[in-house]
Amino acid sequence: MQNLEKYSYRTKRRRVVSAVSKLLSEIECPTENTKENTENTDETVTGPLPVQTLSHVTVNNATTPDQNCVALADDYITQDNAKSTVSTADGEMYSSSDYFVPHESWFDVPADLFSEEHSLSQDYNFDDGDIPDDCAEWIPSVANDSGDECDGSSACGVELSDKDKLVQWAVKYNISQDALSALLVVLQSYDTSQINNLPKDSRTLLSTERHVDIGQKAGGDYYYFGVQYWLSILFQRFPEAFDSSHLKLLINVDGIPLFNSSSMALWPILGSLMTLDSCPFPIAVFCSKKKPEPLDDYVADFISEMQCLENVGFDCEGRHFGVSLHAVICDAPARAFLKCVKSHSGYDSCERCCQRGEWNGKVTFPDLSAELRTDSNFQYKEFPDHHLPTLSSPLLHLNSCGLVSSFPLDYMHLVCLGVMRRLVHLWICGPRSTKLSQCQIAVVSDKLVSLQSHIPRDFARKPRTLQEYKTWKATELRQFLIYSGPVVLRGILPTTLYEHFLALSVAIRILLTQELLDHYLQYAQDLLKYFVASFGVIYGQDQLVYNVHSLIHIPDDAKKYGTLDCVSAFQFETFLGRLKKLVRRPQQPCTQIVRRVLEGHCQPKSVERAETVMFKRPHIEGPLPVTHVHCSQFKQYFASSDFSFMSVSTGDNCFEICGQIGLVRNILRGGRDKDQCYVVFEEFIDASSYFSQPLDSQSLCIFLVQKLSGVHTVFPLNAVTKKYVLLPYKSGFVAVPQMHKS
Ligand SMILES: [Zn+2]
Repeated sequence: MQNLEKYSYRTKRRRVVSAVSKLLSEIECPTENTKENTENTDETVTGPLPVQTLSHVTVNNATTPDQNCVALADDYITQDNAKSTVSTADGEMYSSSDYFVPHESWFDVPADLFSEEHSLSQDYNFDDGDIPDDCAEWIPSVANDSGDECDGSSACGVELSDKDKLVQWAVKYNISQDALSALLVVLQSYDTSQINNLPKDSRTLLSTERHVDIGQKAGGDYYYFGVQYWLSILFQRFPEAFDSSHLKLLINVDGIPLFNSSSMALWPILGSLMTLDSCPFPIAVFCSKKKPEPLDDYVADFISEMQCLENVGFDCEGRHFGVSLHAVICDAPARAFLKCVKSHSGYDSCERCCQRGEWNGKVTFPDLSAELRTDSNFQYKEFPDHHLPTLSSPLLHLNSCGLVSSFPLDYMHLVCLGVMRRLVHLWICGPRSTKLSQCQIAVVSDKLVSLQSHIPRDFARKPRTLQEYKTWKATELRQFLIYSGPVVLRGILPTTLYEHFLALSVAIRILLTQELLDHYLQYAQDLLKYFVASFGVIYGQDQLVYNVHSLIHIPDDAKKYGTLDCVSAFQFETFLGRLKKLVRRPQQPCTQIVRRVLEGHCQPKSVERAETVMFKRPHIEGPLPVTHVHCSQFKQYFASSDFSFMSVSTGDNCFEICGQIGLVRNILRGGRDKDQCYVVFEEFIDASSYFSQPLDSQSLCIFLVQKLSGVHTVFPLNAVTKKYVLLPYKSGFVAVPQMHKS
């Protein structure tokens, strides 16, 4: 049963799990009345059937071929005995005589099965509105004309083998191939007695909470998991993240609409540990058609628990930890909401400096050296115009949270979705002096699309055309800024604009790379000031809005927190999307989310973080040096703790070994240990600078390469130090260090 629970976490479909349980019990325990069921054959059955099940389908009362028929369609068919026709998935009707030949072995339809009442909820009875007592209301069933449920054991008048039942179930619930493969692996580990012991209801299988105490707070449904609840879980699953005696907590507050046709939104308080990368958890869940207000009510439980953790600390299994709120990572509106300050379109809205904005068609911030705000002058409201009248942030009650220094300016929203998208917009729709021609836009778009096969598999999204920039996601904008933009824009964007863009690209690359940060932090700061100052000159003073101006303050965050990825909203945005997907029905979304989380959905999983090493796609094609003929050859390698995915194919084959860039030609395994594994490597011999302004690209490990040595050298796998994104440029390639795994 544990295996099936894990399966359900992956598929995230409770209805499906219910159906699996039911199906399994039917497969292993055929009902005793099957024989007598086959006597009544008057039922007309309508339901989707997989093509595979139809090869041995028979229908009773088939006095002539025209009266009963079965047809093969592309995907599945709908049977209709009475009409003697078959409708395909797209609604087209076929005459039976066109497709069928009656067969002597046709057997009777077990009609009793369709009138049998199945109560899936008998194992578990709920008393609130989240899950109705009668599962038939919320588990979509294949029903016949009389409304009876079509049983999987002989669905739609067809006697099915165990295998066919699974096939039918997979088609009926639109199960993905990955999910089905995972289920088959689970089933292979079961014996008959285990399957017989499975409950029929997913809620029993998943130990769904019978009663969830959803409260009313701040104008909506509210549930508080708590920080300590998650720290205890994380301590069990990731003890390595608890090496230090002090735990630094990151939190995120953001809203996301739940439905297209309703204003219902989800506003969770998410948390994460600084020492645990990409492992957020929901501290509180809030659902309402309005923003949570008043703020004090919304965060009251969190503030109260954090005060306790700050003063007393966190104890677990005999160990004691201090806890502090290290950073609050939000977009600009959410930061203003939590800090109770003027919104980002206000005159005094810069969160880092005290300048009063100027009206230029919109509020702009031209001053690059205004007096900086501090936690102290924020606390005492020394610049009252920055604050909302009569309101004070409840976060001021926390000792470890500075209302200026603990609110990093998240680069996902500010740089990627803010400045980068603004730049692309100005190139496509901006003033004439900075606008690209349609021809230039088409050339850049073609180049972007041509890069798709060169983008590593680690990136979920491949480049799209420039015309689609309005729908580019934050990761696509980051990919353009850091990797593809400097290559595809060169020679097309006017030199002034290109060098200006390159200044932003270089500065952000520095702030995202720890080794560069150590040497070039001040340089990145100067570069961003130059970029912002030039932005007004090139694109107009009216463009110096909050986002563009705030770039000059980002290096201060890198100084305090390390690389910008340490305090970015990317991990929280991804998690927010996962939480949203837990809501399947419009009723009581808060209850649904809480139940699913308590079942195990969206929980940090040690399984996924375990060290995984995989060699894939064995081959015998070489190149294989004579010194390593004892080794097995592979085309792909993946290690979760390493540089991610390695392959001998384009996109994932460029790496750095011993300071040299080259291509992996073969992957060899000589034993179980990693030091017995090797790569056959071919170096580039002409690495040179790709650009010299604003600084030599070689300082950033960005190279122009063209010629390969033609010599294959074998290196131990653990000598590989860095993965590169290799993008075609003219007759060669630009090699750019890969910084992201997603
Ligand atoms: Zn400022």
